[in-house]
Amino acid sequence: MTGSRILVVEDNPLNLKLIRDVLQVAGHEVIEARSGEEAVALAGEVAPQLVLMDLQLPGIDGVEALRLIREHPVVGRVPVVAVTAFAMKEDRDRALHDGFDGYLGKPLSVRDLPEQIQGFLAKGNDGG
Ligand code: MN
Repeated sequence: MTGSRILVVEDNPLNLKLIRDVLQVAGHEVIEARSGEEAVALAGEVAPQLVLMDLQLPGIDGVEALRLIREHPVVGRVPVVAVTAFAMKEDRDRALHDGFDGYLGKPLSVRDLPEQIQGFLAKGNDGG
């Protein structure tokens, strides 16, 4: 199994470090963005295989950043997973309704995250 290039969008430095460390240990290449604007710009530049998108961001939020990424002619179909501190079922439903390919609730589980990421990557490779 080879690593994937994953764009992690997170404005909280501690959360960002945690996600980065876990994903790098799992063999992935991590590209970091600290705002939605940065995420949109980087997505077009680095062509990630997966995006983890914090929903609460300074400036444009994760939903708006997703919308802008989807407009990109090349990387627009990249799987984008919402990450949010809210763990209510309606938040999960709303994230899926907003067009995210999946949902992770905070706090993230260091133990489960690598497998969850593999699941999202596998789904993204379905071609569906
Ligand atoms: Mn945030």
